[in-house]
Amino acid sequence: MTMQIGIMSASSATPGNIPFSIRSERVLVLASSLVVIAILSIVTYLLIREHASAQQAATRAASNIVQLIDADVLRNVELYDVSLQGLIAAAKRQDLKDVSPTIRHLALFDRATAAPYKGDIFLLDKRGDVIADSASVEPRKGNYAEREYFQSHVQDPSPRMMISRPFRARSEPHDWRISFSYRLDDDRGEFVGVAEAAMRLSYFSQLFKSLNIGRGGTVNLVSADGTLLAQEPPLAEDMIGKNFSNRPNFVRILREGNGSFSGISSVDQTQRLYTFSQVGDLPLIVVVALSSREVFASWQRTALLVSGATGALCISLLWLTWLLRRELRRRHIAERELAQLASVDSLTGLANRRTLDETLHREWQRAQRSGQPLSVLMIDADHFKVFNDRHGHQQGDEALRNLAQLIGQHVRRPADLAARYGGEEFSVVLPETTTAGAFTMAQNIRDAVEQLPPVVEGEAPMTVSIGIATWVNGPYGELQQLLLAADKALYQAKASGRNRVVCAM
Ligand code: GH3
Ligand code: MG
Ligand code: MG
Repeated sequence: MTMQIGIMSASSATPGNIPFSIRSERVLVLASSLVVIAILSIVTYLLIREHASAQQAATRAASNIVQLIDADVLRNVELYDVSLQGLIAAAKRQDLKDVSPTIRHLALFDRATAAPYKGDIFLLDKRGDVIADSASVEPRKGNYAEREYFQSHVQDPSPRMMISRPFRARSEPHDWRISFSYRLDDDRGEFVGVAEAAMRLSYFSQLFKSLNIGRGGTVNLVSADGTLLAQEPPLAEDMIGKNFSNRPNFVRILREGNGSFSGISSVDQTQRLYTFSQVGDLPLIVVVALSSREVFASWQRTALLVSGATGALCISLLWLTWLLRRELRRRHIAERELAQLASVDSLTGLANRRTLDETLHREWQRAQRSGQPLSVLMIDADHFKVFNDRHGHQQGDEALRNLAQLIGQHVRRPADLAARYGGEEFSVVLPETTTAGAFTMAQNIRDAVEQLPPVVEGEAPMTVSIGIATWVNGPYGELQQLLLAADKALYQAKASGRNRVVCAM
């Protein structure tokens, strides 16, 4: 029996390391996941930024509208203020007491003509009776003592102008008005009456109507106590005069006075962008509420398109990755199967001749470097031809499998290798093992083979002969010499009666 050692290439999978194919699969999945995450992050960032700038642009536009309304309302309130101041100044003049009623009327309401949407302007005495009426020289009969503003002036000595809550005019009940009023005192500071000018709220509606705020938006005028004075277009019936001071959005508006925020309307549950500002230092707040849907409509279309395209892109990328990974895995499995086929003996499951050659070569080199002993066992079944001829190849194969399994069970150290050399012959490579250690193992194998239950009942137990050779600093200069020595030892074991172990000298 001779043995040829071929120089084999090194194994592709380094022991203890993750095989390259699994690593490349992981890198592939990780890389494409990172790419997907990066794409999603960038798109999300851009969409958020676009959203913010849409909101900013809308807020700016709303803010301009609010300023415009502020200026107009302020100018009008000033006109009313001027009218009232004129009325008060004229009422205090003694010289006007003696002139004709027509002249007196002209003097009292001299400055009142300019105010648009003007309602009645009255001078009331301390009981609330009308003593001067802008509408007629002869003041109409009427008492306004029950009006809230009148009562406020009676109680509050403040000389400031008061803006009333909206009320319905007595003469035209469908017409909402608010009034601007001053308290009149005599020289000693005693209450003597009220100067009051009413303004039709239709003024605001008219003003608000002229502004384009888009669909779903409203322009509102709110008094500082939360009463809605005007709204265009109206969100619901009978909104004017209602108090909204306890609604969350209004609580915020009243608290902040100026600013903007996004919130849901408590009236129609619609998301709106509220921009608001106090009119001068008057107790009036202008609120422009733009529909968020309208504001973000264009952004929403872009966002839908961009996220749809991005989603499709990412899904395609992940799908391609999955396909590629599946192919890699298939290749990996095929490679593993090929490697298995190339290294394992199909009948016994032990390492095959090729692996044996590789291992022998590697361990021989290592032993040369380290100076550690290297033992080789050559195991050959005794009289196997006879067994085979008598019981057939199938029983022979079964016996060989049993023998291989048993040899494999005795080879436990990771560096050791049991292999089928060919036919009914096996080899065991034992690195860093002395002759004594190899002999013990060989005896154990030989013993155990004898104990194996026979494959065919009644047949004599199977036996093996084993030859051992050990390299330990010579005397074999070549691997072939070591193997030849093991072969010779096996021959000796056969020659001297079989079922025994012989060590090469
Ligand atoms: P010895 O004690 O001198 O070793 O005698 P032997 O009969 O075992 O030796 P020999 O080399 O003459 O015969 C080996 C036999 O092993 C030949 C063949 O029938 C049998 N054999 C070899 N390979 C296989 C195999 O894969 N399956 C089976 N069933 N038998 C095999
Ligand atoms: Mg043989
Ligand atoms: Mg034999």
